[in-house]
Amino acid sequence: MPGPRADGTTATAKERGKARAILNRLFERYPEMGTALDYENPWQLLVVTVMSAQTTDENVNKVAPRLFTRYPTPADLAEANPEEVEEIIYSSGFYRQKTKSIIALSQDLEERHQGEVPPQLDELVKLRGVGRKTASVVLAEVWDLPAIAVDTHVNRVTRRLGLTTETDPNKIEQDLKSVFPRQTWSGLSMRFIQFGRDVCDARRPLCGSCELFDLCEWPDRFEAAGRVRD
Ligand code: SF4
Repeated sequence: MPGPRADGTTATAKERGKARAILNRLFERYPEMGTALDYENPWQLLVVTVMSAQTTDENVNKVAPRLFTRYPTPADLAEANPEEVEEIIYSSGFYRQKTKSIIALSQDLEERHQGEVPPQLDELVKLRGVGRKTASVVLAEVWDLPAIAVDTHVNRVTRRLGLTTETDPNKIEQDLKSVFPRQTWSGLSMRFIQFGRDVCDARRPLCGSCELFDLCEWPDRFEAAGRVRD
């Protein structure tokens, strides 16, 4: 049985049914989903996920091969000269903060886990530079473990659909876990993220051709679709 929402209430059968309908349509649109980030092991995925903040996966994929050739293991990156790393990842944006984060997380991995990425959320979020979102992406992608990463797309799309009224990512995650079956959690974020990019854009959502229109609760959807409200 799913747990309570962030506000302590329990989702009704009707609300869980709506979530199921949304899920079915997202699975129809995206039968296969994986991250578009290139990686060869869990540590690399951790690093590229941190680097993907505020930029596109394509940008990260362009700089990552040079980074991993120069620093092939967590031990190598843990001892890296930050200026060299900054120069390599410069084009991914926010390069100073990202350099700090990927070196720090590699140091923590070396010191606490002998360079191995732990498959537990509570251990992952203890690594410097790793938040719940990054940790959830890695758990879901590498080990298919139940985790829901809430980024800006998941936040926007799930709120518009009326699946949550929260704004805090941790509370949104709890609300989503209260309506979606546990076995679907690991594939959920990727589909909402892609749907947010392809259809439910922040500024120009394609409500007129959206397959979730009848399930959506966003007040502006009629205007965005050029339709008159029923
Ligand atoms: S109807 Fe519009 S706002 Fe609602 S989910 Fe679809 S694109 Fe997003």
